[in-house]
Amino acid sequence: MSARAALTGAALFKQRPQAEARPVMFKKILIANRGEIALRIQRACRELGIKTVMVYSEADRDAKYVKLADEAVCIGPPPSAASYLNMPAIISAAEVTDAEAIHPGYGFLSENADFAERVENSGFTFIGPRPESIRMMGDKVSAKRAMIKAGVPCVPGSDGELPDDPREITRIGQAIGYPVIVKAAGGGGGRGMRVVHTEAALLNAVATTKAEAQAAFGNPAVYMEKFLTDPRHIEIQVLADEHGNAVWLGERDCSMQRRHQKILEEAPAPGIARRLIERIGARCADACRKIGYRGAGTFEFLYENGEFYFIEMNTRVQVEHPVTELTTGIDIVVQQILIAAGEQLTLKQRAIAPTGHAIECRVNAEDPVKFTPSPGRITTWHVPGGPGVRVDSHVYAGYFVPPNYDSMIAKIIVHGATREQALARMRTALSEMVVDGISTNIALHRELLLDARFIEGGTNIHYLEEYMAARQG
Ligand code: ADP
Repeated sequence: MSARAALTGAALFKQRPQAEARPVMFKKILIANRGEIALRIQRACRELGIKTVMVYSEADRDAKYVKLADEAVCIGPPPSAASYLNMPAIISAAEVTDAEAIHPGYGFLSENADFAERVENSGFTFIGPRPESIRMMGDKVSAKRAMIKAGVPCVPGSDGELPDDPREITRIGQAIGYPVIVKAAGGGGGRGMRVVHTEAALLNAVATTKAEAQAAFGNPAVYMEKFLTDPRHIEIQVLADEHGNAVWLGERDCSMQRRHQKILEEAPAPGIARRLIERIGARCADACRKIGYRGAGTFEFLYENGEFYFIEMNTRVQVEHPVTELTTGIDIVVQQILIAAGEQLTLKQRAIAPTGHAIECRVNAEDPVKFTPSPGRITTWHVPGGPGVRVDSHVYAGYFVPPNYDSMIAKIIVHGATREQALARMRTALSEMVVDGISTNIALHRELLLDARFIEGGTNIHYLEEYMAARQG
């Protein structure tokens, strides 16, 4: 090649504005979480050729993902407050390792708007929504208001925060009709709500919930809505980029809960007409565009008598995301990273066509009857495999389950062409799973997978607790 041609080539290359405008993928991401989700995110990074920095507490020194990490930084002693919730320690770890972005996983700081803001102000990318979106959705009153405005159906209730005037409160209760539920605007994790069956009990319930909300969340604001007596929990997974594109990836049925904790999830939701799901899914994607949402998110609904009622939005990846990954073939964590890097969503709604049926069982280190945590050393660990079986877990034989954190140690997820095939595969998977040294809830899952009512599909959010009560009685 002549010198001139070489020069022209170089000049041409320099002049390609599209090439320079294209977002540059991260080289290194810090994963600010622990357990299975830390490993899950690490796997997504590796697939994208991104190096990972793991932060860990002293209790997680021996975790598999810490050993597999390109770099690992101890951020404090076992209690979460001193480690996984320690914002300055996490941000310093990103600084010393030159990470460019921070993935918060779920739980811990994942829905903390102040953390997202501090991450961005320190010059890192927060792999999640903008802090304003997290803040808006973190306050249930502002979330509901935004959803009503965006055309998402909500549970009928008070117009925002309840006023102080007792006569006004009574009037609102009458207008909604009993039973009602009084909920803290700042509530979360199933706390800060109270069901009220009669007008006589209303004012007291409001006063108590307000006092509790102030003590627990530092915000006394409460609101009131109709208490639905027979709902299912149905949620819609969305992905949205910062260029105004948004898609929904189908629904999940997470009605199998104990004390508002999900234990088994599936997709699609059995027995709900596709046109109803499609209508609500489209509304959710549309709401994302209207509120300028960015990242992965979940719209949670109660579903009763053919109607959906929005209850809250989770602005992060969820534990149960794999059932959607198996039915759609879309890697939600990879998408989160691409979106955070500024890429355009290449997924088109038309092309998203969930197939078959997926079920997830959460395996917890807990007593199968009393549900008390069962930390300790795992002596035997055999996980299932075979067609359509995925196990997301960070543990191994010899691993010590620390007493300091959530008790979930694995997720078994299966996919089949039909719900029947998925159920059969889950039964086989559960029968192959062997865990010794600690107690788990695997026996409960095995039982549930043989329960006639569950097999039929469509049980409501009270079913598991009723089932447990009948089993004990
Ligand atoms: P949190 O943020 O604490 O999880 P949610 O608003 O998501 O609170 O509600 C948690 C659970 O409480 C729901 O899954 C449902 O079981 C119950 N719940 C909340 N609102 C209502 C309602 N209006 N009617 C019936 N049950 C409700």
